[in-house]
Amino acid sequence: MEFDVVIVGAGPAGLASACRLMQLAQQAEREVSVCLVEKGSEIGAHILSGAVVEPRALNELFPDWAERGAPLTNPVTADEVYYLVNDTNRIKVPNIFVPKPTHNAGNYAVSLGNVCRWLGEQAEAMGVNIFPGFAAAEILFDDNGAVAGVATGDMGVGANGEHKSTYAPGYELRAKYTMFAEGCRGHLGKRLMAQFDLEKDSGTQHYGIGFKELWDIPPENHVPGKVVHTMGWPGNHFGGFFAGSYLYHLENNQVSLGLIIDLSYSNPHLSPFDEFQRFKHHPLIAEQIAGGSRVSYGARAIVKGGLAALPKLSVRGALLIGDDAGFLNMTKIKGSHTAMKSGMLAAETIFDALRRGSTGEDLLGFQERFESSWLYEELNLARNSQQAIHKFGTLLGAAFIWTDQTLFRGNLPFTLQDPTPDHATLKPAASSKRIDYPKPDNKLSFDILTSVFLSNTTHEEDQPCHLQLMDPDIPIGRNLPEYDEPAQRYCPAGVYEVVEENGQPRFVINGQNCVHCKTCDIKDPAQNINWVVPEGTGGPNYPNM
Ligand SMILES: Cc1cc2nc3c(=O)[nH]c(=O)nc-3n(C[C@H](O)[C@H](O)[C@H](O)COP(=O)(O)OP(=O)(O)OC[C@H]3O[C@@H](n4cnc5c(N)ncnc54)[C@H](O)[C@@H]3O)c2cc1C
Ligand code: SF4
Repeated sequence: MEFDVVIVGAGPAGLASACRLMQLAQQAEREVSVCLVEKGSEIGAHILSGAVVEPRALNELFPDWAERGAPLTNPVTADEVYYLVNDTNRIKVPNIFVPKPTHNAGNYAVSLGNVCRWLGEQAEAMGVNIFPGFAAAEILFDDNGAVAGVATGDMGVGANGEHKSTYAPGYELRAKYTMFAEGCRGHLGKRLMAQFDLEKDSGTQHYGIGFKELWDIPPENHVPGKVVHTMGWPGNHFGGFFAGSYLYHLENNQVSLGLIIDLSYSNPHLSPFDEFQRFKHHPLIAEQIAGGSRVSYGARAIVKGGLAALPKLSVRGALLIGDDAGFLNMTKIKGSHTAMKSGMLAAETIFDALRRGSTGEDLLGFQERFESSWLYEELNLARNSQQAIHKFGTLLGAAFIWTDQTLFRGNLPFTLQDPTPDHATLKPAASSKRIDYPKPDNKLSFDILTSVFLSNTTHEEDQPCHLQLMDPDIPIGRNLPEYDEPAQRYCPAGVYEVVEENGQPRFVINGQNCVHCKTCDIKDPAQNINWVVPEGTGGPNYPNM
């Protein structure tokens, strides 16, 4: 099938770019054919986010979003930041010491999945061809080596590689221009960056793993629009392991609660999942959710490197947008408005190219448009935030960020770098402290399988494993003796296990539990795990995350 533009991924970036393209086409009275593929069973099924949304990009895209029924109906009403000293104590950070960009007045506490569902309706109404349940598995190239679209994965292939009775070959979706909007650590985006060396002039990219649970809480604890962030415990105060949390009061007595743990941690015994479960027992959190019930669970990696780590954004025939490129603003822990804006700028760049009759060019104008936009200004102001935390630890790093952004307004004449990638930070297990996590109480904390059940994750069981080991001997031969195979702990869905069989350890991959967070692709110390797309529709089915 041939289109003018193919977009991979129906998150805020992909959907905003699709809508912007159609708006430009309507204004110019031109036909533009746009196809958008999404690997989730429906739009929103794979979206997991806090989410406090800053409406700046949406205001530009649809100034009348409220009349159009956008699900941003819960304005932020209170904004609190705490420093957690330990598992019981906290200090409320006075507003004056909270960097201004992180203030949330004018923002909305929402379900980003539902915002995406609504954006999908707008895009479809304007004529975008949306194909949910189709995973883009391969990049297509033309004879000159320019990107020429994507191929969706075959359906009905058995675990042994043979075609089943349900076999249906994937589709070739050819396009003059392709936008990759797969979100953090997109698997085609990763391939594109490697193939074209797009990161050769950028700083090292960094990531976190973000957990999220939705809770129905007692009405007397609920304050619609209240936003609470914490830093400090359970991370270390002066370096080693960094964690920050969020608790957003949504509507209907529901809160969204999560912990983001930096994947630069060094202790291979650390279990991000267990840290999150233990975290909920802190009195600040427990007093808000006690007596409530957990309704949903999920996890997703989050891209943190910011401006310094952005790759070259274009290759011939394609652009990288949203978290696939790394447009998230880490000072704000917000990437939805930046993803949307990057998609809109990319759409404008591509529309101009289509008007010129161009195909398969390297659209360097996208970088120029980005650099003249508020998006660049915003990311430039935030450019030192992640790196400062890595260099100085939580306390001193936070003080640096405040000074950099409040006193110097981002004008310090340097950009901090942390060149060590997250997969290279682990210390040997033998010299690292073992961590004893408390057993879940099944009121506030739960085990991993009960949790994954709440993500509604399903995969066709008889299919090739989508978690590919480049070298099948590394987990037991190298990772187990050196790092006590950390995949057993960093995976938030219990996909990886080391079991004993006939007195020998064996590495087991329970791929059907995968919630598509991409942490294994990022954190495996040998970079031996390659996450590829499973059959379309596989993965979590988040209702309103
Ligand atoms: C725990 C957590 C909390 C957060 N809190 C906030 C917040 O409060 N406010 C905020 O603004 N931001 C927040 N963010 C960040 C925000 O969610 C992201 O920056 C934003 O969603 C990025 O949008 P995107 O469109 O680039 O990617 P995504 O939202 O990740 O969307 C990508 C889409 O592409 C699909 N896809 C991927 N690969 C393929 C493929 N090969 N074929 C087909 N489809 C594919 C995915 O299924 C997904 O639907 C948070 C993130 C996390 C993890
Ligand atoms: S297998 Fe990898 S991508 Fe899937 S849930 Fe586990 S860590 Fe995340």
